[in-house]
Amino acid sequence: CNASGAAILGELLSAGLNVQGMLWATSPACTELETHVLDWLRQLLDLPQKFSSSSSGGGVIQDSASSASLVALLAARYRSLSILGAPSLHSIVIYTSEHAHSSIERAARIAGIEHVRQVATDDTFAMRTDHLTELIQADKLAGRTPSFVCATLGTTSSNAFDPIAAIGEVCSSENVWLHVDAAMAGTAALCDEFRLGYDGLEFADSYTFNPHKWMFTNFDCNCLYIADRSVLTRALSIMPEYLRNQATDSGDVIDYRDWQIPLGRRFRALKLWFTLRYYGAEGLRHHIRTHVASAQWFAEQINAHPQFELAAPAPLNLVCFRLLGNNDRNNDSNNDRNRELLERLNRSGKMFISHTVLNGKYTLRLCVGQTHTTHAHVEACWDLIRNQLNDEGKTKLNG
Ligand code: PLP
Repeated sequence: CNASGAAILGELLSAGLNVQGMLWATSPACTELETHVLDWLRQLLDLPQKFSSSSSGGGVIQDSASSASLVALLAARYRSLSILGAPSLHSIVIYTSEHAHSSIERAARIAGIEHVRQVATDDTFAMRTDHLTELIQADKLAGRTPSFVCATLGTTSSNAFDPIAAIGEVCSSENVWLHVDAAMAGTAALCDEFRLGYDGLEFADSYTFNPHKWMFTNFDCNCLYIADRSVLTRALSIMPEYLRNQATDSGDVIDYRDWQIPLGRRFRALKLWFTLRYYGAEGLRHHIRTHVASAQWFAEQINAHPQFELAAPAPLNLVCFRLLGNNDRNNDSNNDRNRELLERLNRSGKMFISHTVLNGKYTLRLCVGQTHTTHAHVEACWDLIRNQLNDEGKTKLNG
């Protein structure tokens, strides 16, 4: 996983200080620094101004993208039921693509939402807006309440980018909450040439990405941005007597306990701040560009090799590829051959890649993103892959 010395020192300091950041009053520093760091990060990523604490929104650190999406869904559910007047929890429907991360379906389960629609994807594995519209209209006709759409910038399986502008148009005309999950690819937006899928982001009601995936900040560190913080805090705030305090009563402070599931919280902003300070904006960009360049080089090798094919577009640091099937080889046996290749590569102990299935085909995934991965490592991977292929040929010749 992705970490850095600076982030680890921030984590150590957080453990040593051991502050409790549930309320502004229990640790003003923990709260204030988190607000500042997330505002700086919003600027660095060029996210819409409405996500800033100086407007109606703001950012918060969560433990994971799964929690962030759950929190966003709880806010959307509250908006549908308590602000827009949906008849019942039973009527609420949420939508996400068949390639969205499983945490979205899980969030629905936790939130007691029965209706989760899987929107079909196009040949780049991005959400099809025409199908989204169709599903929403069918649910409305059946008397249900479309409440929440989760679009993904950089899907887990293949790094596909859902068309946010078109999805946003649909959400805004139907008064549906738009949540954007950019768990890994969100970090690439540090570089303006990699702000893929940003068109239409001003439609988003919430946006999340994981510095613990690709921004050199050790687990756990997720950033969630909300456009209207009052909906979120109304959805989650309960004020028992033992938490009552002057600062909260003044209405002038942020109490992050109302932005998350648990009450208590650690001083996670320290490790994120240390990472930003240590690398600086240019330093972070340098590493992201290096990773993307190496992944792109790898994709070119795959493309140029007669026995391999790219299994999906590779716009950033994830390359999905597979061995091409022969005409005499059915899908199942080619899947087995790709699975065996992956197992041999990982068993070597020299590299680790994971897999997915795209259009029924077993697909290998090479992701460049670890802090200390250099181009030489990626070249060594490519050598190893070709050597394994030669070994496969020799085993066959030997019977
Ligand atoms: N969303 C996407 C697009 C992901 O790729 C992942 C993890 O792979 C997640 C959410 C879940 O992330 P976390 O482990 O932070 O909950």
